[in-house]
Amino acid sequence: MIDLWYTESHTENVRFSIKINKHFHSETSEFQKIDFFESTEFGTFFTLDGLMMVNEKDEFVYHDMISHVPLAVNPSVKKVLVIGGGDGGTARELTRYESIERIDMVEIDEAVVRACQKYLPLTASKLEDSRVNLYFEDGVAFVKDKKDEYDLILVDSTDPIGPGEGLFTRAFYQDCFDALTKDGILVNQHESPYYQRDAIAMKKAHSKLKEIFPISKVYQFHMPTYPSGHWLFGFASKSFDPIKDIKKDEWNKFGLKTKYYNTDLHVGCFALPTYVKEMLDKN
Ligand code: SAM
Repeated sequence: MIDLWYTESHTENVRFSIKINKHFHSETSEFQKIDFFESTEFGTFFTLDGLMMVNEKDEFVYHDMISHVPLAVNPSVKKVLVIGGGDGGTARELTRYESIERIDMVEIDEAVVRACQKYLPLTASKLEDSRVNLYFEDGVAFVKDKKDEYDLILVDSTDPIGPGEGLFTRAFYQDCFDALTKDGILVNQHESPYYQRDAIAMKKAHSKLKEIFPISKVYQFHMPTYPSGHWLFGFASKSFDPIKDIKKDEWNKFGLKTKYYNTDLHVGCFALPTYVKEMLDKN
């Protein structure tokens, strides 16, 4: 018996490996290489251009934190735009709110969605919800002509290389600001503070958002399969402060059962380690 391992480089000097049972799907779309694996520890998982995107074991952390944090700050959100998120996990969490009327999801690569619908129903199964409208376009172009339209924008993107690059630019953040309603909130994938390459991307994203939004914070969560395991989202808003304006009782009344998110953790996740605060303050 030969052991099969999936290995990903987290830096030039660090590699992360998962023992796999099989590598059962591989395709190259117009935008990226898509691979699906089956493993004992993390269940089914898929990678884009050799980087872990979603696996069955820790996806709940990422999808809870991208969606429930802003919904607890503004439980009256009605119209949401998801940019990226082709696995469907973010849309799945949003569909749990009966109060949300419309979820537009703009994914550049239709092949990711189709493969996840086939191989990863845990995250993709709610893409058929009647409130979810799928657009297979570049999110950067999609948001350009939208004005005052969304209460919440969630950027569930790949890293700032390849198709995801434009989702980390100042011009894109400005277009998101314009696309948001007067109390609008933007949450975006913010990389990690730990390894240098990711930390540079994190600092750049934060300093650009700070120039545009009156409120711009960063919050953290624990993602075992992403480089260093320490990952961040940006929270930028036109009016709501993510800690002072949390509506704990209102959110708890939704009665959603969540495995990672809760309203106590919400307050704590904005308390950052000193080295991260220093990096963000230096901008
Ligand atoms: N949770 C994952 C993470 O943090 O690595 C992200 C998962 S989701 C699969 C990321 C998606 O963003 C990919 O399917 C990719 O095709 C999509 N994407 C990248 N750039 C995009 C763009 N400019 N417009 C829309 N979608 C984009």
